[in-house]
Amino acid sequence: MTRPVTARVPAKVNVQLAVGGLRPDGFHDLANVFLAVGLHDEVTAAPADTLRLTVEGADAGQVPLDRTNLAARAALALAERHGIAPGVHLHIVKDIPVAGGMAGGSADAAGALLACDALWGTKATRAELLEICAELGSDIPFSLVGGAALGRGRGELLTPLETGGTFHWVFAVAEGGLSTPAVYRECDRLREASGAGASSADVPDPEPSPALLEALRAGDATALAAAVSNDLQPAALSLRPALADTLRAGADAGALASLVSGSGPTCAFLAKDAEGARAVADELAASGTCRAVRITSGPVPGARLVDAAPGARLVDG
Ligand code: ATP
Repeated sequence: MTRPVTARVPAKVNVQLAVGGLRPDGFHDLANVFLAVGLHDEVTAAPADTLRLTVEGADAGQVPLDRTNLAARAALALAERHGIAPGVHLHIVKDIPVAGGMAGGSADAAGALLACDALWGTKATRAELLEICAELGSDIPFSLVGGAALGRGRGELLTPLETGGTFHWVFAVAEGGLSTPAVYRECDRLREASGAGASSADVPDPEPSPALLEALRAGDATALAAAVSNDLQPAALSLRPALADTLRAGADAGALASLVSGSGPTCAFLAKDAEGARAVADELAASGTCRAVRITSGPVPGARLVDAAPGARLVDG
């Protein structure tokens, strides 16, 4: 196929992020309940002689354009497996906050994989795509799968979860990002400092909350709000104390639940319904405690190919 191909990929929020102790390999075991929400990046793959990357969007300046970019790494991994040259121009239209705890880089990797597979005709199986995703990063398989899922291991061993309805969310985007490894390091430091210890021998194995899984299954926002949790939240707040003001502003505005999204610094607020979300968003925006406010809902599907957006830069040059 030689026509450009576009993939659309959602962001995620972790409705539960239970973090186990530090493993000898430097990772943490997780019980990670992902929900895909309707903020999307679009990745277009167009024919080109070599690998080339461009990014547009408000945060584009913060995205690396070299081969450390997760979209580029995904394209290279697919090309290498199939013994072909990685000739592609990847263009990312970025709407997911960068380094925001919403898996934006992971979304771009999953999108690049899907789009390059279609462009190059490599016809990778779903299992192969998932394997490449897991090799590239713990959150990337979920970006491909979407919906709602439980991630075990480092988060990459996924079990899809049933959801009985749509959940309405407001996201408060912070000024600047937080590095995910730095937030995990801070989590370990806080655990050590508390005297409880941070290793896998010290910390109980992370387990999904039965009440949370039931709330998802029932589509019950009030029950979900009572069950959400994020073990990385104390670390994100320690590194970025001002997030406490954002969380308080959302709670004061009537959110059913207020939590840091993944490693932060984006804050997530669960609302009762679409109208409730608008009310929370209005008050949050007026509070002056965040850079931008976004209203959306989930679950939404994972990465999928779409017709290219009109006006998208589709050709190399
Ligand atoms: P997660 O929620 O999976 O922990 P995140 O949403 O906090 O991730 P990302 O937006 O994925 O963070 O970006 C983390 C870092 O990865 C960025 O600071 C950037 O340097 C690098 N990066 C590599 N590729 C990308 C990409 N395609 N988009 C954004 N950042 C990228």
